[in-house]
Amino acid sequence: MTHPDQDKIQVIVFGPGFGECILIHIGDHGWIIIDSCLNDDKEPAGLSYLSSIGVDVENNIKLIVATHWHDDHIKGLFKTLEVAKSANFAMSSAMSHQEFLAFLIAHDRQPNMRIGRGGTEIIKCLRLMKSRGKVPKFVVQDRLIESWDIGKISHGKRVELLALSPSDAQLADTLADASKFLRDNSTENSAKNLPKKRISSENKNNLSIAALLVVGDIGILFGADVEERNIENYGWKNIVTNRKDRAPSPFIFKVAHHGSQGAHLDQVWDDFLEAKPISIVTPWKLGGNFLPKAEDIQRIKERSSFAYITSSEIIPLKRRYDREVLKDIQRSGVSLTSIQYKCGSVSITVNPDSGVVEETVLTNTAKLI
Ligand SMILES: [Zn+2]
Repeated sequence: MTHPDQDKIQVIVFGPGFGECILIHIGDHGWIIIDSCLNDDKEPAGLSYLSSIGVDVENNIKLIVATHWHDDHIKGLFKTLEVAKSANFAMSSAMSHQEFLAFLIAHDRQPNMRIGRGGTEIIKCLRLMKSRGKVPKFVVQDRLIESWDIGKISHGKRVELLALSPSDAQLADTLADASKFLRDNSTENSAKNLPKKRISSENKNNLSIAALLVVGDIGILFGADVEERNIENYGWKNIVTNRKDRAPSPFIFKVAHHGSQGAHLDQVWDDFLEAKPISIVTPWKLGGNFLPKAEDIQRIKERSSFAYITSSEIIPLKRRYDREVLKDIQRSGVSLTSIQYKCGSVSITVNPDSGVVEETVLTNTAKLI
């Protein structure tokens, strides 16, 4: 793999089977990183890739966006920010509320907490920005996260990254939930032996930042883990209403929430995206649960001109090891996971003048679905 030409836009989506990381070349060697996951060497996938193609990561990573604090979007984020010394850092505006940070700390300390410790990683990133004397960008719907004006980049187009979520209603709900969680799990309640409570809406990805990249006349949509609530002012319904009659219609879509049915809304495809866009899905697996399901893949394929998944390889143990070796492993009491994904990536290079895709590169086990 080589560095894209300075006048080209390139989007690379990494997905190892749990997690995702997106790189965007905006032109003139400048890069945006959205979220972070680990590659097969357990290194931050995006950062390792940029180093491997010779990017000056200290100066040319312009912006890092944490779409939300869940584990599958945040692994390696702090390490990436540490190296990206000149980058701006953007996250949900909930993180600017002390009470929400207190909630993250309390949440991550819960016993048997299955969702991971992404909150701790976010707080480390906030501390790092503070030590640099920089204020992060706190994001709500319609915030222009960052822009580069005409003339600043040699391809001559204005570039902007616009937040499409969370809505004010989602933010207000989350902050109310966080306060309730802190109250319910207060030391006063512990002293009374009242049972510990879990936050109620954490699974709805209320704070997730969907973002629209606009380069001249073209748009690329990054759906993060935004889900559909079927309520006005929430989720995709809110985004579609907000984008009504506003150009551009995105022609590439990082499909939301690992292609799940719960993140699907017909109007996103019918009214917002260009007809038959190019879609990219990152898979997700935790315990026995996995995304996308076969019916999700079918639905996404039908609505896309090309649909890609970043990682697909499922290798049964029987095919991974010789029968005798397997017996030895079993005798030694070591347990192996039965499914193995590899961190693949889908890279799409676009000419910002014509909006034409000039090259698509799939690595590892990424494939057309
Ligand atoms: Zn996710």
